[in-house]
Amino acid sequence: MRQRFCCKTGEMINKYEFDKEEMDNTLVAKWRGENGHDELSINDLEHWFNKQILTLYYQRNGRPDPEYKIDAEYEVLADDDVPDHKRAELVSELEADGINVEAMTDDFVSYSTIYRHFSECIDAEKGSDEDDTESDWEREGIDYAKETFRERVTKSLRVLSNKDRLAGYENSELEFSASLRCDHCPTSVPVETAIERGFVCATHNDLDIAPDASSVEVVSSFLA
Ligand SMILES: [Zn+2]
Ligand SMILES: [Zn+2]
Repeated sequence: MRQRFCCKTGEMINKYEFDKEEMDNTLVAKWRGENGHDELSINDLEHWFNKQILTLYYQRNGRPDPEYKIDAEYEVLADDDVPDHKRAELVSELEADGINVEAMTDDFVSYSTIYRHFSECIDAEKGSDEDDTESDWEREGIDYAKETFRERVTKSLRVLSNKDRLAGYENSELEFSASLRCDHCPTSVPVETAIERGFVCATHNDLDIAPDASSVEVVSSFLA
């Protein structure tokens, strides 16, 4: 009977025989920067978790696993910007050491899996009273939504491409962004920019956060 897991993170914790409670506690402590851990973003946690899997493979196959080597070789495997020949070189080296690279990298978790594991499986929150940390948590929510959207769109496009219904997909890159458009004028800003500066439109914000910017716009519209 196939055991049910909370998500892929839980499944991998079980598969690689990490202690579930200890791993969950470590992930959350690193996320929050507690218990002497440096604070990591969800993105960093994804890489940290996958490096635990990589390290296990190295240990089981008698391949030296100093941290700098794990860091460098994980990057070659996980970073899309690494040239194919460089990755192929490492893959054949690992396979010569007896590591099934495809099976291993299939087990790597994604950013959104870690996020979901926190929010839906173990009900972990960033849990700090500081405003900064809270807004980081909201920002990570936006990153998560974008990442999930990207994963789903990419998956559908790849299927269409494989069915020869989307020519040129292999030579293209998915580009999208989320913007906020003001209801009262043509101002449109990327979500990130709006969060960064704390308002959508300099002219039409009730809070009057940026009086300078709004007066500049008023002046220039008079001149126009
Ligand atoms: Zn989970
Ligand atoms: Zn406006």
